[in-house]
Amino acid sequence: MDNHCTTKQTSELAAVVVGGGAAGIAVVGNLLEQLPPNSKIGWIDPLFQGGRINAKYREVPSNTKVHHFLSYGEGVEAFRKIAETTEKPNAISILKGLPHDDTCSLQYAGDMLQVLTEGLLKHDQVTSFKASVTDCERISQDSVWSLTVRDEASQATQRITAPIVAYCTGAFPSTVPFPDGLSRVPKLLDLDITLKPSLFAETIPRDQDICIGVIGASHSAILVLRNIFELSQKSHPKLRARWFSRAKRLKYAEDKGDWILYDNTGLKGIAAQFARENLDGDRLLHSEVGKIITRVDCSGGVEQEREAYLKEMPGCDYVTQAIGYNTKPLPMKQEVSFNHETGGFIDPKTKEPVPGLYGAGIGFPERVVDPVGNVEYAVGFIKFMRFLKRVVPRWVEPIPN
Ligand SMILES: Cc1cc2nc3c(=O)[nH]c(=O)nc-3n(C[C@H](O)[C@H](O)[C@H](O)COP(=O)(O)OP(=O)(O)OC[C@H]3O[C@@H](n4cnc5c(N)ncnc54)[C@H](O)[C@@H]3O)c2cc1C
Repeated sequence: MDNHCTTKQTSELAAVVVGGGAAGIAVVGNLLEQLPPNSKIGWIDPLFQGGRINAKYREVPSNTKVHHFLSYGEGVEAFRKIAETTEKPNAISILKGLPHDDTCSLQYAGDMLQVLTEGLLKHDQVTSFKASVTDCERISQDSVWSLTVRDEASQATQRITAPIVAYCTGAFPSTVPFPDGLSRVPKLLDLDITLKPSLFAETIPRDQDICIGVIGASHSAILVLRNIFELSQKSHPKLRARWFSRAKRLKYAEDKGDWILYDNTGLKGIAAQFARENLDGDRLLHSEVGKIITRVDCSGGVEQEREAYLKEMPGCDYVTQAIGYNTKPLPMKQEVSFNHETGGFIDPKTKEPVPGLYGAGIGFPERVVDPVGNVEYAVGFIKFMRFLKRVVPRWVEPIPN
């Protein structure tokens, strides 16, 4: 790319996928299956390294079983071909060798994403752009989207066009401000650090009395508490934590035979085991973990939570917020809102679908209702794959002008 904005002759692109994480990879795979042969797909990511699973969570234990990662990795023909043609042992054959009914470290899932990425980048229908999308607008007279794409290294920009754009740009840990009046505000410790034990260990001093506030009670919060306990037993003997939790009882995923209660919001795998054994109810009072972690009761409403923060937060040196993940605003001026049933977007003013614009992944998940009426957002490799298999055939239907 040169240093000024150029328009690449990419009018032949049938679709553009923005993002190279688990969702972007799955969208490329599904588009290859659904678009006519020889259609070209543009694929944009600044790194092409499997998104946040590889960048941030390789040391995190998975909350899904190995067979779900395998079903994702074999979900479309293009993926199966990559697994077959990549020299063995490869990340997919290694994943196959793990117990299928157990969870695993996310490094195995991350390695699989890397193999699939490399295979897709070599696919003759895929045109890749190692860059970021900085703007996107619909040129309605041509019925195409025009994307501005910037290469961070050279700062060069170019414009590419396609009738279909799928955003799979992920989500980032959310944070909220603390109530006014704290006598001391602890230093914010990014959730991406506290979820990664090797980085966590390097970030905080080893031989000082350090107290970390942990806010939240779902999967990420429990994994952080487990990391703190393990560091306190190995390398950081003076490390302690205050756990700010609204939940008196924790919520677990429950296998109901042919469906899973709280499949997307309940604790699973190692986090569930650690919570059951050490944290839940009055367990903390009797477990070894209770010598390291103290629970701060934030239940009862906003005012009670504020009081708990005012009293207990100033005693923390650091605080990590594990309260969920937020989507970054899309790089486009037009206001749009996501339709969690179709994977499309709607214009919030007219309520009409925005032609050719789609999303998937943790930033744009499917909304699901379980057999007892709980509404959840379906986040996970296999869930992205199932959703895409249902909706991508509709995405590629001819777009009305
Ligand atoms: C702590 C944690 C543990 C999880 N564990 C599991 C698990 O065990 N099993 C499971 O199935 N799921 C798990 N998930 C859920 C989910 O699979 C991951 O969040 C996954 O990373 C989501 O993939 P994604 O593609 O939506 O987003 P990401 O992985 O975040 O990828 C987004 C990509 O988009 C790129 N991007 C962003 N903006 C732009 C732009 N403007 N232009 C170009 N590219 C852009 C980024 O560089 C990135 O590569 C976990 C999630 C978290 C947070």
